[in-house]
Amino acid sequence: MESIKNIYCIGRNYALHAKELNNEVPTSPLLFSKPTHSIAHANGGTISLPADRGRIHFEAELVIHIGEDYYEGAKADDLIDQMALGIDFTLRDVQDKLKEKGKPWLLAKGFPQSAVLTNFIPFPGVEASKEKDFSLQINEKVVQTGNIRDCIFDFQTIIDYCAENVGLGIGDIIFTGTPNGVGETIDGDRFVLQWGDEALGTCRIAKK
Ligand code: ZN
Repeated sequence: MESIKNIYCIGRNYALHAKELNNEVPTSPLLFSKPTHSIAHANGGTISLPADRGRIHFEAELVIHIGEDYYEGAKADDLIDQMALGIDFTLRDVQDKLKEKGKPWLLAKGFPQSAVLTNFIPFPGVEASKEKDFSLQINEKVVQTGNIRDCIFDFQTIIDYCAENVGLGIGDIIFTGTPNGVGETIDGDRFVLQWGDEALGTCRIAKK
C-alpha cells in the first residue's frame, strides 16, 4: 500500500460511547485529525505510550482507506478500497483540560503512536461490513465490540463531510468512531483487534 496521507477521525459516532463520557450526541460529524507521526502498527510488537500525562484511554475503531480521489457523487463503496482496525489512543486527562478551555484536541489525540493500525484488508463493502462485529480484547478479555450499523453518521456521510470541508483523496484514512467500553490502558496490556473471529493485529503496551 502507498503511504498514508491524512489521518481523519470521527468523534462520538456511537451514541452509547457519547453517553459514557457524558457528551452530547452530535448533530453533524465531529471531525479531527492526527499527524502521520502518530501511526504505529499492531504487528505483534510493543507500542510505547507516555507514562506521565495522566490517563490514556483506548478507543477501538474500524478504519477505512480511500483508494481514489474524491469526485462529485462518489459512493462510499467506490472510494473505500481497504479497511483495518485501529486504536485511537487518547490522553483523556489532557483532553478534558483542553475541552474545558475550548482548546484544540491535538495534544490529547496526536501524540506519537496514538494511531495504531492493523494490516489493511480488502474492503468488503458497506453492507457486507455490517454482517461482522469488530472487537478489542485486552489480556484475553473482550472490552469493546462494535458494528458499523450503530454509527450515527454512516460512511457515505463521513466521506462527503470530509471531502466538502477538508478534502479527501487517495491515501487518506478515516478512523470512523469508537463504540462504548473505552477505558484505561495499563502498562503491559496485550491488545488483540478482531474482525469477526479473525485477529487482524496484536500489540503490547509499554508506558514510559
Ligand atoms: Zn476515537
